[in-house]
Amino acid sequence: IIEFKHVDKYYGKLHALKDINLKIDEGQVVSIIGPSGSGKSTLIRTMNGLEPINSGQLIVTGHDLADKKTDINKIRKNVGMVFQHFNLYNNHTVLENVMLAPKIVLKRPDDENRKIAMQYLERVGMADKINSYPRQLSGGQQQRVAIARSLAMDPKVILFDEPTSALDPEMIEDVLEVMRYVAEQGITMVVVTHEMGFARKVSNRLIFFDQGHILEDRDPGEFFDHPNTERARQFLSKII
Ligand code: ATP
Ligand code: MG
Repeated sequence: IIEFKHVDKYYGKLHALKDINLKIDEGQVVSIIGPSGSGKSTLIRTMNGLEPINSGQLIVTGHDLADKKTDINKIRKNVGMVFQHFNLYNNHTVLENVMLAPKIVLKRPDDENRKIAMQYLERVGMADKINSYPRQLSGGQQQRVAIARSLAMDPKVILFDEPTSALDPEMIEDVLEVMRYVAEQGITMVVVTHEMGFARKVSNRLIFFDQGHILEDRDPGEFFDHPNTERARQFLSKII
């Protein structure tokens, strides 16, 4: 569903992604871990065209992101993204946040749109806050709304960039529970995370990223028990 072939990405002179070759299949739940500044956010932001690539080929849900003729909106219909800082529309209510993109992008009729939005808001435990504004919610609540908003688009893939890093510890578990639910729906997930419990137990593939390279790409349990590289051993010894 996502395929990188010899992809390079530069910010000016900085070589952020170096010859990335990566194939992610439908339904996989992939965790990406690695040091700060290694290029994890850059890697997932290329997957929905938020960051352009400089060379190579990147096919996402059948569309080639390197091809200038590709309509990026077609990819974004299929690929949702959940950010560290929630990025809700602050001047819209919770319900409006979830209904907006399906209305505009999918032209989903109002009745059906409301029904689907309510269904997901109930699933993430936010049905009693539909008329609240984002500023009236806790970080964990905002993040659960952001996930409901992604789900309402019926995406094939959801990208998560450190979805729990800005949250207080007691809210992290609520968000992880919702992410486990997303994984059970068979939606392809690519998750940059510091939550080693999630990486080990929920994801079925682990990528260790360092200095713009994929250093390890393996079964999470095997990675955590026996990292192959010295870099990964060092990294794990610092965070666990
Ligand atoms: P973190 O764990 O801190 O979020 P990361 O692994 O997500 O780090 P990236 O944000 O992808 O790392 O950054 C990779 C490199 O690219 C870093 O050296 C960063 O300074 C640089 N970089 C990221 N975004 C930009 C940008 N918009 N312009 C210039 N350089 C950038
Ligand atoms: Mg990052």
